[in-house]
Amino acid sequence: MRDPRYDILFQPQQIGPLTAKNRFYQVPHCNGAGYRDPSAAAAMRGIKAEGGWGVIFTEQTEMHHTSEITPFIELRLWEDQDIPAIAKMAAAMKTHGGLAGIQLAYSGINGPNFYTKEVPMAVSPGPIRTFTNDPVQARGLDKTDIKNLRRWFVNAAKRSKLAGFDLICLYGAHGFGIFQHFLSRATNQRSDEYGGSLENRSRFAREVIADMRDAVGDTMALTMRVSLDENIGNLGFSNAELRDFIAMNGDLPDLWDLAQGTWEDCSGPSRFKEEAAQQTLVQGIRDLTTRPVVGVGRFTSPDVMAKMIRQGTLDFIGCARPSIADPFLPKKIEEGRIEDIRECIGCNICVTGDMTQSISRCTQNPTFMEEWRKGWHPERMNAKGASQNVLIVGAGPAGLEAARALSLRGYDVALAEAGTTLGGRVAKERLLPGLSAWGRVADYRAYQISQRPNIETYFDSRLSADDILAFGFQNIAIATGALWRADGVARMHVEAIPNSGMQVFTPDDLMAGRLPKGRVTVFDDDHYYMGGVLAELLAQQGCDVTLITPSAYVSDWTLNTLEQGAIHRRLAAAGVKITLNTGLISMQPQSITTACVYTGAETQTETDAVVMVASRTSQDQLYRDLQARAADWADAGILSVKLIGDANAPGPIAWATYAGHRYARELDTPDIGDALPFRREVTALQD
Ligand code: ADP
Ligand code: SF4
Repeated sequence: MRDPRYDILFQPQQIGPLTAKNRFYQVPHCNGAGYRDPSAAAAMRGIKAEGGWGVIFTEQTEMHHTSEITPFIELRLWEDQDIPAIAKMAAAMKTHGGLAGIQLAYSGINGPNFYTKEVPMAVSPGPIRTFTNDPVQARGLDKTDIKNLRRWFVNAAKRSKLAGFDLICLYGAHGFGIFQHFLSRATNQRSDEYGGSLENRSRFAREVIADMRDAVGDTMALTMRVSLDENIGNLGFSNAELRDFIAMNGDLPDLWDLAQGTWEDCSGPSRFKEEAAQQTLVQGIRDLTTRPVVGVGRFTSPDVMAKMIRQGTLDFIGCARPSIADPFLPKKIEEGRIEDIRECIGCNICVTGDMTQSISRCTQNPTFMEEWRKGWHPERMNAKGASQNVLIVGAGPAGLEAARALSLRGYDVALAEAGTTLGGRVAKERLLPGLSAWGRVADYRAYQISQRPNIETYFDSRLSADDILAFGFQNIAIATGALWRADGVARMHVEAIPNSGMQVFTPDDLMAGRLPKGRVTVFDDDHYYMGGVLAELLAQQGCDVTLITPSAYVSDWTLNTLEQGAIHRRLAAAGVKITLNTGLISMQPQSITTACVYTGAETQTETDAVVMVASRTSQDQLYRDLQARAADWADAGILSVKLIGDANAPGPIAWATYAGHRYARELDTPDIGDALPFRREVTALQD
């Protein structure tokens, strides 16, 4: 049963004309599906409803075709034709007594309009602000445009109501919505009654909310998502100004939704931001208004949540990532199953689905965005198939997830691990600077496994093909992981980098405690987090560190996890010298030769050691040994042998948990031949 300490989280709350059943508020979040995969997005929101969220929001919804953010895929509500897709989502959100919210966005200075080819309109004219510095400028809204825009908001509100939504959120945070653009002096240089004083800059918000109240306010709640701080000093919308704005307009919306001024700050990864990191910016705002306040902060601890309410900081606990990692978080608190919460690790892999316009993944929750595509439920597995048992070799993320999920299906599982800990790469990587929260990938699964009667774990068990043939398990999953290469083969080099005597270390060496000393060069041709993290570690250890990469950015791919700027800043602060657009050509005793990737101009530099962050090699020898003995399988009682996770093909941790989960789902299921292994939404052709 629920711990009474958390009762406060389950008190019903009024929002305008509506009552939310509890204080769990899933704030808008992207998912990479949007208008392209509306059924997948709808099913994902439906799972949140089942998991107990009192309020559930869509991602940002482009409310008019004159402002769209192609190539990013969000929702669209441009005309009546768009209603059925979002109505499906609203219906899914309301299935378990949740309130359905839609976030309306007019992107203004953020919308390049590549798809509609409309001339972008912004509060003041200027270059479009996106992640890609598009060579497009917006013109400033004139008075007629502002009138039109007010009408378009009303049209969108009426369509939202028709689609079945209960709440409308007006987007003005993360730098992304027109309301923030009006409020901030950085984007509002107008000299008319919409610019200048804060009173003037808030005029548009007051007008739109008044218009929308007239149109739909009798039945719908109107919320405003505003920026806590743009962090660009007095020129931008500061926390002090936000407080003045709310003090002046306290009763304007039915709820204040507080989020950071940039997305990078708001969705701060655990490497750079703790849980409840926005507390000081939020503290006291509730006293400026009679309306309820929601805030975010990667909340996964029910104690922190209850404290936020009890101390009067928040009325609602806003969650995006924690609701992705565990859609059943409210239910688990309600049922007194705190230890079953699958805590978000703050890796921002979910964000990459949006940034790459693919479809999101979650490191912790492999069923995220597969609720409709594959029919995967985060808490329930499919029924057991014909066979009885499985041997999983390797207790990394892939092996652990496979073991957990297979045991839920009812299989007898043996988990054999060569080492003495659970977690594989995560057990090592969690010890690196800033990555301790990533250990939750192992901790969550280790606990779940410890609670299951049908999983046996064997440590110090480095298995050979002979061992496996002797055991008599019916199904074998090889999840033996991957090791970093020392020879530099990755993207720049397809052959080993010539080395006539330089000491070379791999990430595996460093994680095993074998650290170089003195002047150390980190060569990063991997481009995700490892190069930057190891440079940070070495700087902490007192090394004189230079990071060299052929890319134009340190930890290039972390642009997709919103970490890149923070990584560069942290390395610079730690005294790491950063050399971009530069390749490692050859190594000699005590020196390396590097070259500019554009001109080929070479430089010779003295260094004591090189840390090679290149690519990884799958540890698949055991699998190949078993394949070579395929003729003996039948006698040994083996029905299937499968290679999963990094041992199959190295990738981020999320790829391994997904592989483990997929293996568990698909064991003993019928062969689908050449059919597509997921459902797909195909656009109907118009006449
Ligand atoms: P993944 O990310 O795919 O789960 P990891 O590298 O994290 O892969 O984990 C692989 C695990 O497999 C490690 O804990 C490693 O010790 C273990 N392992 C590797 N080879 C064997 C083997 N032959 N027998 C048992 N365990 C093994
Ligand atoms: Fe959290 Fe990472 Fe999952 Fe995103 S992908 S919800 S940050 S665990």
